[in-house]
Amino acid sequence: MRIVLLGPPGAGKGTQARRLSERYGLPVIGTGDIFRDHAARGTALGLAAKEYMDRGDYVPDHIAVNMVLERLDQPDTREGFILDGFPRTVAQAQALEGALAAGGRPLSAVLNFKIGDEVAVKRLTGRLVCPNCKRVYNLNFKRPRVEGICDVCGHRLEARSDDDEATIRRRLLVYRKETQPLVLYFWERGLLRDIDAEAPEEVVADRTIEALSDLLDLEA
Ligand code: ADP
Ligand code: AMP
Repeated sequence: MRIVLLGPPGAGKGTQARRLSERYGLPVIGTGDIFRDHAARGTALGLAAKEYMDRGDYVPDHIAVNMVLERLDQPDTREGFILDGFPRTVAQAQALEGALAAGGRPLSAVLNFKIGDEVAVKRLTGRLVCPNCKRVYNLNFKRPRVEGICDVCGHRLEARSDDDEATIRRRLLVYRKETQPLVLYFWERGLLRDIDAEAPEEVVADRTIEALSDLLDLEA
């Protein structure tokens, strides 16, 4: 299964990506996580990406595309993968589609998680992330068992530096302009299902499995 998760910041892509990964045994390729890891290690890629991320802008297409296509060459993606946060522009979608077609492994499904802007702001201003294992928590909706500590790996949790309200609003604007066109792009290819993501995590998880089964039946 080769799955793309689409949706604005805060829609729950990372949260649902982890659930899908555990259910189907597929690797998650989270482009934001990869850029943040590079930035923390101070690599050239990380330094190039950081200035864009801090502003709430997208990293230039060629940087994101090269990074993802290299990652998709790794053997653990052979049985499938979950792309979280890529593609985010039409140019990225075209590059991805071209590379996957050349490899004879086209996308299976694109799941479009839908939430309103105010829900996104509320979720993101309460988000805490584990920089080690990437699990996501929330001060309002999903508190860790011990304050400030990851339930699973015990690492200290952090707020992301781009999760302040002004940067969140900028990211929502960039999403509408750059990424919203991908909904039509994938819909026209018969690959997309919308998911109402304004519901508790477990309810969204059920809707995700339903949408996926629907698409995979259509594909069969
Ligand atoms: P994205 O990857 O789309 O930006 P995340 O998965 O990181 O979104 O979720 C954003 C924040 O919202 C996190 O703090 C997460 O715990 C929380 N969250 C995710 N899904 C839900 C949900 N269905 N209801 C309430 N909060 C949620
Ligand atoms: P995310 O973790 O998905 O919220 O992404 C955080 C930030 O990483 C975004 O605001 C962008 O600056 C950058 N980023 C992640 N994925 C992409 C992508 N596919 N194209 C461009 N920039 C990206």
